Amino acid sequence: MNYFDLPKIDLHCHLDGSLRPQTVIDLAAEQNIELPSTDAEVIKEMMVAPETCPNLQEYLDRFALPIKVMQTAEGIERISFELFEDAAKENVKYLEVRFAPHLHIQQGLSHEQIIESAVKGMKRAEALYDIKGNYILSAVKFLPSDTIPPVLDAGEKFLGNGVVAFDLAGSELDNFAHDYVTYTQYARDKGYRITIHAGEQGCGQNVYDAIELLGAERIGHGVAIKDHEQAYQRVKQDVVGLEACPSSNVQTKAIPELKLHPLKEFHKDGLPVTINTDNRTVSNTTMTQEVEKVMELFDLTAEDYAQIYRASVEQCFASDEVKQKLMQYI
Ligand SMILES: [Zn+2]
Repeated sequence: MNYFDLPKIDLHCHLDGSLRPQTVIDLAAEQNIELPSTDAEVIKEMMVAPETCPNLQEYLDRFALPIKVMQTAEGIERISFELFEDAAKENVKYLEVRFAPHLHIQQGLSHEQIIESAVKGMKRAEALYDIKGNYILSAVKFLPSDTIPPVLDAGEKFLGNGVVAFDLAGSELDNFAHDYVTYTQYARDKGYRITIHAGEQGCGQNVYDAIELLGAERIGHGVAIKDHEQAYQRVKQDVVGLEACPSSNVQTKAIPELKLHPLKEFHKDGLPVTINTDNRTVSNTTMTQEVEKVMELFDLTAEDYAQIYRASVEQCFASDEVKQKLMQYI
C-alpha cells in the first residue's frame, strides 16, 4: 500500500512539538536568542526525544527550545503555516493542531494575538494547499488553573473560525479531572468542544472521569482503558474518539512496545480509534510513518484503514461541510 498517497487526518498534533529545526535557527537569529549550534542536525537532535524515554519529563523537556522562539506573532504565524504545509505535502487533508497560548506570553503578546497568529498561519496554508484545519486551545496542568479562563475568553471570537476546542495537556496525575470541572464547564458554555489527555501515563479511571466530569468528546491517548472495564464501556457507549499516537505512546512509556498497543483490539471491537502524530518533531514522525507503522505491524487491510479514516472524520471538530468533503477522499 502506498501510505504517502493515502488521504490522512491528524486530530492530535501539538504545535510546539512540530517545528522545523531550521525555523528554530532562523527565529532564534531574528530574536537574538543564543543557540548551542546553528547546524540544523544538531538542533534537531535537541528537539527529538529518544525512542523510549526514561520518564515523561525527558520527553517534555524537548519543548523548551521551541517555546523560547515562539514568543512573537510572526514566529507563531510562520510555525503554524509550516506545520500545515508539511502535513499537506504528505496528503493530510485535515489537521487539528493544539497549543497552550499561555506559554507564549513571555514577551508581552496577548492571548488574543497569539491565537490570531496561529489561525492566520493556518489560513495562509489552507489557501495554498488542499488541507483544512482547526485549532484546539490547550491548558497545561502545571500552570495555575486561573490562567485558563482568560485564554478561553480570548479564543471565543475565533470559535467556528479557526478555533474549535479546549484540551487539557501536561503530565497526568490520578484523579486530575476533579480539579477542572468548572473550567471545562466554562469552555462548553462558550461553545468549545472538549478533548482531554487521559489514560496516557495515568489510569483508566482518568478517562472515565474526563468523560463523566469534564464532558470529553474525545480522549488524547486513552490506552489505559484496556485495563479498566468501566472506562472501556463508557468510551464504547458514548462513541468517544480515541486519539492514538503510536510512536509517542512508546516514547513516553504509555505502552512498553508498539506491538502491545491496544489500538487494533479497540478498532476490531468497534471503538472509534484514530491514528495521529502527537508531535512531528519531538516524536520524529509524520502521518505517513504513523499510518505505515500501524498498518504493517497489525496487518490491517485497506478496509480497516477506510474505517479508521471515517472514524477520524466523524470524530473531528470540523463543520459538516468540511466533514462531507473529507468523506469524499476515501
Ligand atoms: Zn498530546
